[in-house]
Amino acid sequence: MIEQMRGGTQQYSGPPLPQHSQPFQSQQNHVPSLPPYIQNGPSLMTPQMQQQQLRTMDMSSLSSALPPSQNIRAAAPMPNQFGPPPNLVPEAFQQQQQQSPSPIPPQYQQQSTFQGQANPSVSNQNRVSPQIPSHFPPQPPSNLSGPPSAAFPPYKQPFQVSQIPTFQNQQTPQSLSGPVGYSQQPPLMPPITNQPNLSGLNSYPNQPSSMPPFSNQQSNLSGPTYSQQQRSQAYPPGMQPISSQSNLSGPPVPGIQQQNGSTGYPGQPSAGPQFQQSQQQRIDPDMIPNVVQVLEQMQEKTQEPFITNTLGVLPPLVATNFICQDQGSCNPRFIRATTYSVPNAADMIKQSHIPVALAISPLASLRSEELEPPITNFGDIGPVRCHRCKAYMCSFMQFIDGGKRFICAFCNQCTDVGTEYFNHLDHNGRRLDWYQRPELCLGSYEILATKQYCKDEKWPEAPAFIFMIDVSYSSVRSGLLHFICQILKDELLNYLPKDKNAETSTVRVGFATFDKQLHFYNIKNTLGQPQMMIVSDLEEVFMPLLDGFLALPDESRNVINSLLDQIPQTFAHTQETETILGPVIQAGIEALKGAGRVGKLYIFSTTLPIAVAPGKLANRDDKKLLGTDKEKIILAPVNNFYTKLGEECAQNGCAVDLFVFPNNYLDLATIGEVCRISGGQMYKFNYFSVENDGERLLNELKRNFQRTTVFDALMRVRTSTGIRPIDFLGNFYMTNATEMTFGSIDSDKSVCVELKHDDKLPTETNTFIQVALLYTSISGQRRLRILTLGLTVTAAYTSLYPGCDLDAVMNYTAKVVNQAANMLACYRKNCAQSTTAGQLILPETLKLLPIYVTALIKCDALIGTQTVTTDDRSWLIHKIMAMDVKSTFAYLYPRIFALHNIEEDTIPPMIRCSYERFSETGAYVLENGLVMYIWLGSQINPTVIQCLFGVPSLSQVEAEKCKILDLDNQISKNVRNLLNYIRNDRNSHLKLFIVHQRDSIEPFFKNYLIEDKGFTGGASYVDFLYHLHREIRNILQ
Ligand SMILES: [Zn+2]
Repeated sequence: MIEQMRGGTQQYSGPPLPQHSQPFQSQQNHVPSLPPYIQNGPSLMTPQMQQQQLRTMDMSSLSSALPPSQNIRAAAPMPNQFGPPPNLVPEAFQQQQQQSPSPIPPQYQQQSTFQGQANPSVSNQNRVSPQIPSHFPPQPPSNLSGPPSAAFPPYKQPFQVSQIPTFQNQQTPQSLSGPVGYSQQPPLMPPITNQPNLSGLNSYPNQPSSMPPFSNQQSNLSGPTYSQQQRSQAYPPGMQPISSQSNLSGPPVPGIQQQNGSTGYPGQPSAGPQFQQSQQQRIDPDMIPNVVQVLEQMQEKTQEPFITNTLGVLPPLVATNFICQDQGSCNPRFIRATTYSVPNAADMIKQSHIPVALAISPLASLRSEELEPPITNFGDIGPVRCHRCKAYMCSFMQFIDGGKRFICAFCNQCTDVGTEYFNHLDHNGRRLDWYQRPELCLGSYEILATKQYCKDEKWPEAPAFIFMIDVSYSSVRSGLLHFICQILKDELLNYLPKDKNAETSTVRVGFATFDKQLHFYNIKNTLGQPQMMIVSDLEEVFMPLLDGFLALPDESRNVINSLLDQIPQTFAHTQETETILGPVIQAGIEALKGAGRVGKLYIFSTTLPIAVAPGKLANRDDKKLLGTDKEKIILAPVNNFYTKLGEECAQNGCAVDLFVFPNNYLDLATIGEVCRISGGQMYKFNYFSVENDGERLLNELKRNFQRTTVFDALMRVRTSTGIRPIDFLGNFYMTNATEMTFGSIDSDKSVCVELKHDDKLPTETNTFIQVALLYTSISGQRRLRILTLGLTVTAAYTSLYPGCDLDAVMNYTAKVVNQAANMLACYRKNCAQSTTAGQLILPETLKLLPIYVTALIKCDALIGTQTVTTDDRSWLIHKIMAMDVKSTFAYLYPRIFALHNIEEDTIPPMIRCSYERFSETGAYVLENGLVMYIWLGSQINPTVIQCLFGVPSLSQVEAEKCKILDLDNQISKNVRNLLNYIRNDRNSHLKLFIVHQRDSIEPFFKNYLIEDKGFTGGASYVDFLYHLHREIRNILQ
């Protein structure tokens, strides 16, 4: 039995004992070592980079041979002269019509332009060097593409396995968004058939519909070969995806102008009669810009690596499968800008309504083919920085005076180069060692920090993980307590994270349990049995146990195993239903502080903390408020207790990951604050049962351990003179106007930073962004990660829009507000004036903006309805604030794949998010990075059902089981492979729900079909286009 030492805390009632940690950690972690790429030899070039160098050379020779008309200005979207006007024609298509197919891909054209722009200024040439080393002999272009490799598979079919991007984000397992929140509850809304305003789009394929469908082609959609047919609709036979767009000019689509006059948009989107009217417009959904088609086109264009040596070039869309080569600016996985051509003045931003913002994921996972930021060591001199603005050395600093000084790219001031760092310059003005030094040639690198960068100038200790487990009645009864102890013992302690090159993990672990009391455990390796200590004073929690609370699992494994066996037994018959939470977190912070370590608290909690203690909460849920003006009351914290706790965590290098298992309201709006401010994460498992959720909990914890996580982090964004960061969005704590503090930050977390002009930027130079993240690694090493990005500056609207990154715009917009109509109206006014008034003109780079805005107005997190619980709303809001660009993309426009004709080892083509695209003889999977559904059509072949679920008919499929059985047949294998692929891709063990066509859950499922009218409101995509068009016209008038 665990020795109980009640009152044992008394002896420690004084101030915390002095810590036993050594003033200096074992020096092993901090021995300056040569970065691996230096050890490998003088050249930093990977074979890919060398190849790319050659490619670059090839491009420049190619571009210099171009006539001037092929430069970027010509390639930029210009007023569309195309007619007769198909409305809603994306500009890409218009351009393609205007320009005969060019043998030169767009990115090459842009490169040629850049060189043109760079000519006048020597400094520009230096800043964006052509990156062609003289010692690389030129080779014929045929060598450049090389044989098809795994990295660049030949393009056969869109969205084959190897061409799908690897998503590194989305940690959270669970989406309780919307309907499915409480899966064992009956849906809160009646089935869709009772919803009068759904009559338009909810008609099932092959059924007579009371309303004419948008597209006559709907009736073609049935049958097992649905996917083929659908694709052939999107792309007329024999046509490539891109050229098929030109088909838009074919049969004229009735224009808004012709059909609808100035009353383009027929009133309220959900109003029945008006809706019929809009249907009469018969805009063919196949003729409007759609996500699936654009992704396929982008994927086809993205066969080559994206090289970062040319400023102002738009990176590939996040959802495409691309490889980046860092040659001066950092990988777009780290920083994405909303525009790569920054407006030169504030009034241009005001006019265009395009936010200038950055989406920063400083620890983003890279693909295996991409270069991780190498670690450099400046020795005792520490990081080389600009004397004035403190920017760190980067590829855009310009050395002068024979290498004795450098001009800062950010503030333009000179800094002397110390003798330790001096090197001579070559005839191009570049340091002779620029290839050897990552800070001189790469956009991302790390620096081994010196003691000045450590807290109290002391080397940090390795981090600690503290597991704090609810042992109240509901935790015991659901089997949660037993399950957590079991997986910790059998699995998780073997998965503790370590630095890349380390052999074993140096992470310490500690254990505590709580109900209305708090229990700590001594797991010192010299003990025969673990000891329990009960904290009696919850008002002023202190750490009763310094020696023996945190231990290395390798050293104390027997005691830990014994503890994890005994905890479930000890509390097996508890009747305690009340719990505390505030003192639990406070004690965790004290434990870390006492041990002089940073780390994480893993808190597993099942109920609202109503026991008498600091942080006590009451049930204040009022679902009636959701969707009303008053919803902000219940979506805001009830007090600042947990906010303050989060701040204390952040300042002590501690993050709280909260795993909640509610059967009722938990007030996540309040307790989630501690996760938000500390840089932690909330995981939610409604109505937990080991059978349904155990595997998911285990996988989420494994992923949580295995992703790159750092602690005690400070992030700062520096920019060139003239612009500066003003607004910071995300989950972190700010103690001053410029620095973001994270108790912990990991590879799945992202922040948004908005930039503002102080001054007019000169258009003849570039502008630069530098993100510096100071942190303690998982092995306790103090490092800096430096990410630098160069952007061009423009005064011309025509070059602003081509530089727009829709992904980043949407990521930013999802965190604040949308201004789509204003953006497009400004575009229309400045770039497409000569077009006829009846057309809705979309800039090429923003042509998907309307569909994403359509998604936004239906998004559960932003739009309250009473079908989503209060806690689910809070959880979603928390989630979105930390989402990176890829995850936002997936959240707004779910991926759908057909399962009924899936082939071995392939990812089927994506299907558009519209019920029209479904066949009642089919089966489909839908996923948005938070949740996954399998939809089964009512006329599905029983063989498929037998193969997947092991039962002879659809009616016998138990939707509650939420599982594809592990059956030995090809269909089952293919489907399970696909689901595994999706979960790996999303870095999250997405919860699966099974939906039968026309069952009571289906309306909730349909809410994810973004192109259709939302079942709780929200216009269809086509309706929204009308609306947008009218808005733009109003603005322009
Ligand atoms: Zn400077």
